[in-house]
Amino acid sequence: MKRLFGAFGLFVLLAAGFAPTHAQDEPLKIVASFSILADVVKNIAGDSAEVVSLIPPDADPHAFQPAPQDVALLAEADVIFINGANLEEGLLEVIENAGEKMNLVVVSQCVPILPGVQDHTDGEAHNEVDMSEIAVLCEKHHEEIGEAETPNMLYALDCGHEEESDDHGVCDPHVWTDPQNVILWTLFIRDALIQLDPGNADTYTANAAVYIQQLDALVKDEILPALAAIPEENRVLVTNHESMGYFAAAYGFEIAGSVIPSSSTLAEPSAGDIARLIDVIEANDIKAIFAEVNVNADLVQQVSDESGAEFYVLYHTLSNTDGPASTYLEMMRYNVQTIVTALSK
Ligand SMILES: [Zn+2]
Repeated sequence: MKRLFGAFGLFVLLAAGFAPTHAQDEPLKIVASFSILADVVKNIAGDSAEVVSLIPPDADPHAFQPAPQDVALLAEADVIFINGANLEEGLLEVIENAGEKMNLVVVSQCVPILPGVQDHTDGEAHNEVDMSEIAVLCEKHHEEIGEAETPNMLYALDCGHEEESDDHGVCDPHVWTDPQNVILWTLFIRDALIQLDPGNADTYTANAAVYIQQLDALVKDEILPALAAIPEENRVLVTNHESMGYFAAAYGFEIAGSVIPSSSTLAEPSAGDIARLIDVIEANDIKAIFAEVNVNADLVQQVSDESGAEFYVLYHTLSNTDGPASTYLEMMRYNVQTIVTALSK
């Protein structure tokens, strides 16, 4: 099972046989595991595809358990995109047991992975596996965006699996909190779509270029100028679970602690964990605590009440269309604005 997250080519073909041949005159049927990824895929696939998010907006991806109709949806898909790095904890067994031929693409394979908070092994590299195809692709992608390659890309790591440890793995799956990683997703999704549907290669290439421009502009014209308003000494985040590690690393923030001391929401904090976190908040005079909408609100409220740090909501998946985070770009704007409001006081 853990090999699913390890070293693979662009597609992992599940079960025996060949990938279904896509009929040229019909739109591609694409399933993405969660709402943020579905939005990114839509930007690249454009009108040539039907894109569905398996885990609905506003649902916690860590806790999702698929229903029988979800399995049917997976079986009908031409391709399934997932984040990997143990985000889709409740989904993988179902995908593996569906007994159908499925094209599974792990979009974070070329993303440099941060260790999860309760790291045991520091993401050991598994060099004995032949990763030449994916290694070459990742090298190309990093070159394309003018970024140096790092040794800790997902394809070269073993993130473990929940059965092997009580903390649901050693990799932090929240790569999308740094838009640079979403640019790497975009290149990976583009190349997977081209491989699956070469007739529309020009469309996928053009769409990816436009979206990458938007992501670049989001960082340079919006995120960086907005965050500049936060004084250096206030650049400290306390979150509900360890969901902002990539954001913190990208923009020079420190993570002081989290209510659930894990990169999954499925772990449970002890009374000691909560008491220690309150001590950290008080000792460092931390004014804000950030929690994902719909997750663990009672406990976060308790920490907020006892420590005096104000409770702010961040989005960790997309909202429904009438919410403030109906696309990835909107979600990042909302989260950054919330952080700026909370920490520039
Ligand atoms: Zn999370």
